[in-house]
Amino acid sequence: MKIQQLHTLFLECHSASTDTRKIKGNDMFFALKGDNFNGNTYAAQAINLGAKYVIIDEPAYYKNSQTILVDNVLETLQELASFHRTFLNIPIIALTGSNGKTTTKELINATLSKKYKTTATVGNLNNHIGVPLTLLFMDKNTEIGIVEMGANHLKEIAFLCQMAKPDYGYITNFGKAHLEGFGGVEGVIKGKSEMYDYLMEHNKTIFVNTNDPIQLEKTKKTTTFTFGNKDQTPDVCVNFNEAQPFVICSYNDLSIKSQLIGDYNFSNIAAAIAIANYFKVDDKSIKQAIENYIPANNRSQIIQKNSNKIILDAYNANPTSMAAALHNFEKQTENKVAIIGDMFELGIEAKQEHQYIVDLANSLKINKLIFIGENFFQTKMDSDKISKYKSFSDFKEAFKPSSIENYTLLIKGSRGMALERVLDLI
Ligand code: ATP
Ligand code: MG
Repeated sequence: MKIQQLHTLFLECHSASTDTRKIKGNDMFFALKGDNFNGNTYAAQAINLGAKYVIIDEPAYYKNSQTILVDNVLETLQELASFHRTFLNIPIIALTGSNGKTTTKELINATLSKKYKTTATVGNLNNHIGVPLTLLFMDKNTEIGIVEMGANHLKEIAFLCQMAKPDYGYITNFGKAHLEGFGGVEGVIKGKSEMYDYLMEHNKTIFVNTNDPIQLEKTKKTTTFTFGNKDQTPDVCVNFNEAQPFVICSYNDLSIKSQLIGDYNFSNIAAAIAIANYFKVDDKSIKQAIENYIPANNRSQIIQKNSNKIILDAYNANPTSMAAALHNFEKQTENKVAIIGDMFELGIEAKQEHQYIVDLANSLKINKLIFIGENFFQTKMDSDKISKYKSFSDFKEAFKPSSIENYTLLIKGSRGMALERVLDLI
């Protein structure tokens, strides 16, 4: 079937879906395959649950005229999304970067939705499946699309940009994340810059944080809309006031008090303010949107538990975000303990980067440091304030709740470490 024909059928549907548990009725269901599942086996169930059409790539699962057989379901999903994009006559803002994509995306969505009907990436659906789904979630009511793009290898952002054809883009930062797949920091910069390459080639606008020398350097010769401190004469001025613990900033004589902790969130907030300013959202609505935003999913939340105040940042970690979190944590005034888990996907740089974090943490004014995971276990550094455990279960076995009372805690590690489990022990 030609993609135009498939698109006509798609327009009859309510939405796209890849998970039978999320079928709402009248969906186009894409029977994707993964390492441990074959979506084709759910085709009949999808129809029973109310899917209008089911896209499959194994003839054995053909059921009735609602079943559409294609060569490759994933490629069809991507081609359909790409075609749908050309059909949507709206501006799309794309976001990538090593850290802070989802937070920035949520903040941009909060501010822009004060004035426009927006469709943004749901949660963290930012890969070769999530981006096409995000595009297919946009419909004729959507006025602005906001698309988070994640990557852990070169060429992935280029591919996602070809599909989403963004009119605007922002790269949150170039940090030490996914070093393994990108082959080092240079690879990260190159990989993320594929978004700049796309935007420049198509004469589109790039949002630039003037505090970031890499962003400034890379966008010298193109159309930009800049934000930063007063002295840098950006298009939009956003000044950092404090982060004690929540980030407060000022913009056009307004003081904006966020519910986000950590200095690093300042750039995420500033980007959202600048983009909302660009799209002419009024100042009062911008302030309201930022002040009401509360992060979800263990991303920098503050929790009071018994006598301890816990900064839960267990959603993810890499060397850049870990260093930022530790520096920020040092500024807390109370007795402090940091419970730090391994950082994954660092490839050959894993040993060096874990050592760097241990050395850094040891040099900061933090009373106790607890490291959990095989990588941290192997680092070299002994001091009275450091304890190391090879695994979470070793930590759990040795842990005495009475050892942590009246402390401020930072809990941070890679997703696979699931350090939110610490909360059950305290
Ligand atoms: P993912 O790669 O999982 O999609 P992401 O880029 O979407 O991550 P977020 O989910 O917004 O990032 O934030 C994850 C964590 O990264 C936060 O909890 C925080 O520790 C850290 N972080 C957020 N923003 C920044 C930033 N601007 N600079 C450094 N670290 C940040
Ligand atoms: Mg994300």
